[in-house]
Amino acid sequence: MHNYGERTLTLVRGEGSYVWDDAGRRYLDALSGIAVCGLGHCHPAVTGAIQDQAGTLLHVSNLYNIPAQEQLAEKLVSQSGMDNVFFSNSGAEANEAAIKLARRLGNERGFPVPKILVMENAFHGRTLATLTATGNEKVQAGFAPLPEGFLRVPFDDVAAIEKMAVAHDDIVAILVEPVQGEGGIRVPAPGYLKRLREICDNRDWLLMLDEIQTGNGRSGALFAYQHNGLLPDVVTTAKGLGNGVPIGACLARGKAAQLFTAGTHGSTFGGNPLACRAGLAVLETLEQEQLIERAATLGEQLLVQLREALTGCAAVKEIRGLGLLIGIELDRPCGVLVERAREAGLLINVTAGSVVRLLPPLTITDEECAEITATVSALIQQFTRETA
Ligand SMILES: *Cc1c(COP(=O)(O)O)cnc(C)c1O
Repeated sequence: MHNYGERTLTLVRGEGSYVWDDAGRRYLDALSGIAVCGLGHCHPAVTGAIQDQAGTLLHVSNLYNIPAQEQLAEKLVSQSGMDNVFFSNSGAEANEAAIKLARRLGNERGFPVPKILVMENAFHGRTLATLTATGNEKVQAGFAPLPEGFLRVPFDDVAAIEKMAVAHDDIVAILVEPVQGEGGIRVPAPGYLKRLREICDNRDWLLMLDEIQTGNGRSGALFAYQHNGLLPDVVTTAKGLGNGVPIGACLARGKAAQLFTAGTHGSTFGGNPLACRAGLAVLETLEQEQLIERAATLGEQLLVQLREALTGCAAVKEIRGLGLLIGIELDRPCGVLVERAREAGLLINVTAGSVVRLLPPLTITDEECAEITATVSALIQQFTRETA
C-alpha cells in the first residue's frame, strides 16, 4: 500500500548475528529487526519450540485454557514484579490495552475525557490511539480526527508534568518510554523515573511504561525500570519477546490489574500457543545464557569503544545508551549512513534524522562488537570530513 519506503535489499536467511541477501552476501546485523531478534536469528531454542508447537497445536482461541500462555504469564509476572498480563500480537496493541486501562480508571472516576500525559518525541505505535500518543507530527499528519484525551509535555522534564497537574484535574496516567527509542535513544536524567513514580503515587495516577523496545533484556535488565528500583502500574512490551514471532504483552499491577473484567478486552490471536511457546523459549534462553547480564556488559563496552574511536570527531554530538540500545547523535542529518554501512556489510538504522541507532543481538560476540565499532566509526569519520 505504498506505506513503506522503497526497499532495495532482500534478506533471505539468518543465523546468529548474521543475515544473507538473495545474492548470497552476508551482513552483520546491528539492528536485529529493530530490537526484535535479541537472541540472534534462528536461535535453536526458539526454532525448536516453534517447530514442536507447530506439530502439536497452533491455535485454539482464548475461549479455552492455553498452558503455554499461562506458563509465559507466570514467568513474566514473577520476573517483572507485576500481577497479571494481557497478551496481544504487537506493541501498538499492547499500548492500546494500557490506554484502555487508563480510560477505564478515568471513567470510574467520572471524568468525561480522562487525560493521559505523553511525551514529546515519544513513539507508541501506529494505531489511531497510539499514533496520537506518539510525539511526532509526521506520524499523525493526515489522520484527523485523532482521539481526545492526551496531554503532551517535554521528555525528561518533571516541572512540566507538575505544571500540567495543576492545570488539569482529570489526568489519570503517565505513558512514557524509560529510554526513548525511535525518538533517538534518549536516556533521561538519573532519578527521572523515580520522580514520575512519586508524582503518580501522590496524585493517584497510573505510571505506564512503554518497554516495547527497551524490554526483554535489551537494556541490561529484563525491563529498564528494574535499573531504577521501582515498579510501574502498567508496563507494555513486544518486540524482543518472541524473537520474531509476533507477540505483545501489557502487564499490570495493583488496582490497574483489576480494571478489566470479563468481556472488556480481547484478541483472537493474542497469547496463542505458538507465540507463547516462542516467548517462553526467549525468557528461558535469556536466563540460561545469561544474556541480560551480557547486554549490560557489552553495552558499556560498546559505549567506551565508540567514544574512544570517535574522540574529536566534529560531527558527533553525543554517544549514549543503556545496555544494547545505543545512539550516536550527529549534528547533521545522516540517513545516508544506512546505505554506506550496508555496502560495508553492516545493518544499522538512523532514527530522528541524525541519530545512528545500534540494536545488535544480545548474543553478539566481543569480536562482532569490535567490528561494529570499527565500521561505524570509520563511516562517521569519513561522512564528517565530506560534509564539513
Ligand atoms: C516499536 C514500538 C512500538 C510499536 O510496536 P509495533 O509492534 O510496531 O506496533 C511502540 N512503542 C515503542 C517504544 C516501540 O519501539
